Amino acid sequence: MPTIDILISEVGPRDGLQNAGAIMPTEAKKRWIKAEAAAGVREIEVGSFVPAKVLPQLADTAEIVQYARSLPGLDVAVLVPNLRGAEGAVAAGAHKISIPFSVSETHSLRNVRRSHEQMFEEVRRIRELIDQQEHKPHFEGGLSTAFGCTLEGPISEDLVVRSAEKLMQAGCDEVGLSDTTGYANPAQVSRLVGKVKAAVGDDRLTGIHLHNTRGLGLANVIAALDAGITTVDSSLGGLGGCPFAPGASGNIVTEDLVFMLEAMGLRTGIDLEKLLQVRAILEQSLDGEPLYGFTPDAGLPKGFRSASAA
Ligand code: ZN
Repeated sequence: MPTIDILISEVGPRDGLQNAGAIMPTEAKKRWIKAEAAAGVREIEVGSFVPAKVLPQLADTAEIVQYARSLPGLDVAVLVPNLRGAEGAVAAGAHKISIPFSVSETHSLRNVRRSHEQMFEEVRRIRELIDQQEHKPHFEGGLSTAFGCTLEGPISEDLVVRSAEKLMQAGCDEVGLSDTTGYANPAQVSRLVGKVKAAVGDDRLTGIHLHNTRGLGLANVIAALDAGITTVDSSLGGLGGCPFAPGASGNIVTEDLVFMLEAMGLRTGIDLEKLLQVRAILEQSLDGEPLYGFTPDAGLPKGFRSASAA
């Protein structure tokens, strides 16, 4: 497969659908994932192993994982809130498992009813489960609310660093930083990526999850890349909105992110024209759900040549 400079991790089928009002039919999810993989997207977070009662939008995650595994060259990622979720992910054959860890303990207690100590224990148990497998999925601890929390407000950077260290000690292969609330700014991104990389090792923090809630999503991406980040999460059409600010945009838009990187000469391996066409699947199967993005509306500039096509 051709070399890439930046890995785009599409999180729409998990993060986007989780926050969408409508439930996307399983068949439409498969078409979406297949079309993005065909456009050159190499990693997709396809679902979350949570009880169907909690998130009926993602009740078909096991089937979606099995389907996505059949697509050549695609890394299939899933979110798991706990050991039980990880068991489902391992059984289905996910390549990558992420567990969200709220650095804001108030958020953690409210969201998953677990203290930090209980979360570290959960991570240790998941590590034991993974170590028993012949094919070991990559295991990431996602530091959510790392840039601020809707309940606690500002979050101590020292606490983010200490949480990253403890997640690694508990058995994660890697940690990620997540601006769950859309509070981050570029100076903060640069500083926090530097501090966490210094604490856990340069190659143990490679990915970031940013939101565009206040219009700083792509500016924050640039700050993250300058600080050495090489994997960026985004959602097609910015699907899902912001769970904390009804009506506001949430995840950064995959189409705009790929346009920016490719225009800058950074290869994503993604065919932007093909990617723009995938949006129609969302428009057809999620009637009325708001989609975001500038590039889909404006179209590509005349004579645009992507870095990946060069
Ligand atoms: Zn998100």
